[in-house]
Order: sequence, then structure tokens, then C-alpha cells
Amino acid sequence: MCLYPRHRHSLHCILPPHLSREIVRNGSKEQRERVLRTQAVDNTLRAMRLARSGLARMGAQFQPGPIMVAGQKLRTIFDMKNSQEFPGLMARSEGQANSSDVCINEAYEGLGATYDMYQEVFSRNSIDGQGMPLHAHVHYGHDYDNAFWDGERMVLGDGDGDIFNRFTIAVDVIGHELAHGVTEHEGPLTYFVQAGALNESLSDVFGSLVKQHLLKQKADEADWLIGQGLFTKNVEGQALRSMKAPGTAYDDNVLGKDPQPARMRDYVHTWDDNGGVHINSGIPNRAFYLVATQLGGYAWERAGHIWYETLRDPRLKPNATFLSFARLTVLSAARLFGSGSDEEKVVRDAWSQVDIRVSRERVGEPLWGPGVQPPPQQSGQQPPAQ
Ligand SMILES: [Zn+2]
Repeated sequence: MCLYPRHRHSLHCILPPHLSREIVRNGSKEQRERVLRTQAVDNTLRAMRLARSGLARMGAQFQPGPIMVAGQKLRTIFDMKNSQEFPGLMARSEGQANSSDVCINEAYEGLGATYDMYQEVFSRNSIDGQGMPLHAHVHYGHDYDNAFWDGERMVLGDGDGDIFNRFTIAVDVIGHELAHGVTEHEGPLTYFVQAGALNESLSDVFGSLVKQHLLKQKADEADWLIGQGLFTKNVEGQALRSMKAPGTAYDDNVLGKDPQPARMRDYVHTWDDNGGVHINSGIPNRAFYLVATQLGGYAWERAGHIWYETLRDPRLKPNATFLSFARLTVLSAARLFGSGSDEEKVVRDAWSQVDIRVSRERVGEPLWGPGVQPPPQQSGQQPPAQ
């Protein structure tokens, strides 16, 4: 969403704008037409959200959100039947048996995997922490090449079958989109430049954790890809992004080459894509990958907790930079696992491997502002349970 300053409940699409641009530049007539049609729909949805948020600010009648139910998973999948008129037909609700439609089942399982990861790992009750029901709408539009979270619901297109498969196919795509909801509820990260890239990276981190948790994979067993399975066989590429090796996810004559940098020296300065939010997210993505693999075991146990506590840290500012975020992760590691712990050292080392240096002496200095006190030292605290 191209807004600055940030407002709540932006429209977050999984497909980065640089990918669409490459298809428009290199694709066939049909491929170009499809991507332009998808972009036109996305732009309309953004305009509608802007208009609604303007009305809300003026105190006009605002459509009520879903009813909150505390402490339970509550999924509903709607079949849009290729229309764009919400909500579509209710196709499967919580506890109902499998549908004959793979998209309905994948959306149901994806919402469930996301809910379970947040509940079991972080004791978080849904996106807002208060049991928000999870709604997904599948078969949105014709050949719609995208998936998005609009603050209230997840919407998934069928893909065109030429470049993209159905968007329900990758559970981490669902995890990524819902993580934008968590970030909006918890963190104040502006969707612009480095703070925006951190926002994107957090969605990749928690999206990947949803997949790893579902598959019970340890850090060294995970693929660390985002959107694996989304590309058809026609594409030279494995996924939208690689957290392990940013810049290597795809290299294709229509999609171009994955533009993500893996370290700060290769940071991309651009005004496109809200200042490269889907591009420079490769840098904090790789830092998380390094922390998780160097600590070993399940990534959500230690690395995931450190990142989650950083997201929830009140000192995380809307305009956070990679460096200020990195400092907070070091502080979170020290708070969770002890000052001088291996975890703290691994986090600091990982950031330095992506050219972001958090010095031991200065780690806390710029973070203590007026009225913000450092947290009490909890040296030797036991690692949280998974
Ligand atoms: Zn995103």
C-alpha cells in the first residue's frame, strides 16, 4: 500500500510490484493483459480502502467488523465463484468436513496452520490476540494473479495457470498475509523504506514459521523459500523469495531476476515499491535465517521468540531502521535468554554478516528515549517453551 504515514489495515498483496512490471515488460500479450487486469483490481481495492478510511475519520457509519470470539479457532471460507462481490458463498466453516474443492481446503488448512502456530508458540489468540475469526475468500475474480489481506479478510486468486498456480497452494503465502495483520495490531511499522522492508520481512519470517511449524521442520530442514509452488513449470524459479539466499529465488525471461540483496552493502535505493519494501526485506530475512540456523532446532523456539518480542517491544518505532530493529533483537535475546548468552551473541553475529553492526557498548544507547526506561534485566531466564 503506497501510503505514508502509515494507516491501519492497508491492503497487503503477496505479489511485489517489480514482478508485475517485469511481466508487463517481457510477457506475451495475454500475460500482459492478465497482469494489468490484476493491477487494475488492486488499485480499485486500494482506492476503496482509502475512501472508507476517510469516511471513518469523518465519523461516518462504518461497516462493523466480525464478531470476536475469545480463545478458539474460528475459520470460514467463502467461494467467490470468480466474482469480486464480497462475501461470496459460505463454503466451509469451522469443524465442517473437507470440501471437494482443493482451494477451499487449502485456505481452511492455511488459516488453521497460521492460527495454531501463533497459539501454540506465542500463546496468541488469533491475529489481534483476541480471537478474531479468520475469513478467507477463494476463487476471487478471473485469473486473478494475487492474494491479499485487507485488514479483515484473506482474499486469494486462482492464478492464471500460465505463470502462477492457485494462490492457496503455498501455506506460507497465507501465513505471510496474516502476519501483516499481526504487525498492524502489534507494531507501528510504516510501510515505507526500511520500516516497510522490516514489515515485509516480518511477514516472511512468520509466514515461513507457519510452514515450518506445520511440517515440524527444524531450521536446517526448512526450504526458507516464500511462495514455493506458486510458479508454474513455465517459470525458471523456485519461489517469490529466498530467505536463505536472497536474490536467487528466480531468474526467468518473463519475470526477470530476483532483485533482493542479501546484505547492506547491496541495499537498493529506489522510490519504487514504497522504497523497495519487497526488495530490501532480503537483508533482515537473511539475518533471521542466519540466527535460526546457527541456533539450530526449531526456528520458532528461540529465533522466532526473539523476533516476536521485538515486534511487540514498545520501543519499536514506526520509522524503525534495520539498525534500530537489529539492536532491539539483541536486547530481546538478552532479555529472553540472558545477557551474554549464546543467543545474544548469535543474533549480533547474524546482523554483522549482513553488514549491520550492533556494538556491545552502544546497543542500548539510542533506544532509551524520554519516558522510556530500559526493561529490567532478567539474566538467566529460561528459554520460553515452544
Ligand atoms: Zn507482504
